[in-house]
Amino acid sequence: MKALNKKNISTIISASWIFTSDLESQLLSDYSVVIDNDKIIDLLPQSKVFNEYEAHDTYQLTDHILIPGLINTHAHAAMSLFKSFADDLPLHDWLNNHIWPAEKEFVSPSFVKDGSILALSEMIKSGITTFNDMYFYPNETAEAAKELGVRGNIGLVVLNFPTNYATDPEDYLLKGFGFRDKWRNEELITTSIAPHAPYSVSDEAFTMINTYSEELRISIHTHLHETKWEIEDSIGKYGMTPVQRLNNLGIIGPSLMAAHCVHCNDQDMAILAKNKVSIIHNPSSNMKLGSGIADVARMLEQSLNVCLGTDSSASNNRLDILEEMRLAALLIKGSTNLPESMPIKEAIKMATINGAKALGLDGIIGSIEKNKKADLVAIDLSKIENQPIYDPLSTLVYSSSRSDVNYVWINGKLKLKDKKLVQINEEEIIQLAKKWQIKLKKI
Ligand SMILES: [Zn+2]
Repeated sequence: MKALNKKNISTIISASWIFTSDLESQLLSDYSVVIDNDKIIDLLPQSKVFNEYEAHDTYQLTDHILIPGLINTHAHAAMSLFKSFADDLPLHDWLNNHIWPAEKEFVSPSFVKDGSILALSEMIKSGITTFNDMYFYPNETAEAAKELGVRGNIGLVVLNFPTNYATDPEDYLLKGFGFRDKWRNEELITTSIAPHAPYSVSDEAFTMINTYSEELRISIHTHLHETKWEIEDSIGKYGMTPVQRLNNLGIIGPSLMAAHCVHCNDQDMAILAKNKVSIIHNPSSNMKLGSGIADVARMLEQSLNVCLGTDSSASNNRLDILEEMRLAALLIKGSTNLPESMPIKEAIKMATINGAKALGLDGIIGSIEKNKKADLVAIDLSKIENQPIYDPLSTLVYSSSRSDVNYVWINGKLKLKDKKLVQINEEEIIQLAKKWQIKLKKI
């Protein structure tokens, strides 16, 4: 009789360990996550799950840890086509003499679509289920996200100078809002206004952006205090730091996601903390461009929400939040001489729930809880390099790597199975990248 009462659902995932990343930060042993369509509907011991549920698909993942999908809170997906294109240069030389001239010649809707497909394929293989993007031709980035079924918050980029995409701030915004209207009802796509940076956007444009952000209740995603040059340039032109200038213009607030914040004085830090800004820490990109190391210890002391980003493949050159998490956990210890800084669970939260909070999506993603969307990653800890496992969370943060990412689900749908992309032929993506490599090499 009991079997007749079982509830039919889509998927049961049973794993040796589950880290919930919720308020209780629970590490559960031998538990199962029950998924129906796109949602997590239950979390219960493996010994009980089959008494209550009958699933279309079941996964028994021994020696795996199941965590919420990783959130890449700062990306320029299409720039994956610039991976290894220009390395070992300071930001302004890199941008002015390499990236911007190449963008002028090559960036088009097809470049953005193909580059985004390449980036999102890499992100899925790295356990990333949500990305927060800023680039030209957002429609093509959204199309790539829709095709691969990745959750994306896509920026409506604004610059003060013309590019292949738009001519001036009004034109960028006009195109951005057209894109936003078109994708308004797409479940996996949300939007932010994305003024590129204080040095590339005028006071007038920031004022306009602030008005739209308040009227439409749309968040803002920008680069802020990435280099010492940016701050010196701002003090020279405006008599104040970029944080102080943006504060005067009304941009600094709880709906701001500020990438980098590497060089902040006490006054800047107090403004960011008072206004509950979300800070996106991009340790690899900051180190590769020689920009510096963000003072995350001070940010955490001030209770700022700190999340993680890869930045683009042109300045990283891997889209790997597990690596950013490990680096963040190590850099804070190395720079403060305090090994107790950023305990393991805090590092995992930076890679998951904190990113969801920054995006305003913590009601639906970022943790493994009933009624949240089933964005999940199963990481195989069975290999030699992960043995022995006294603490699976320590193994996850300090020993494992993206090559251990075995399964990925987004919105309840399987995206990676046995380390292979489910929906797309990996060889075709490699050929797509090679096609652009031949074109770009001619510059
Ligand atoms: Zn960036």
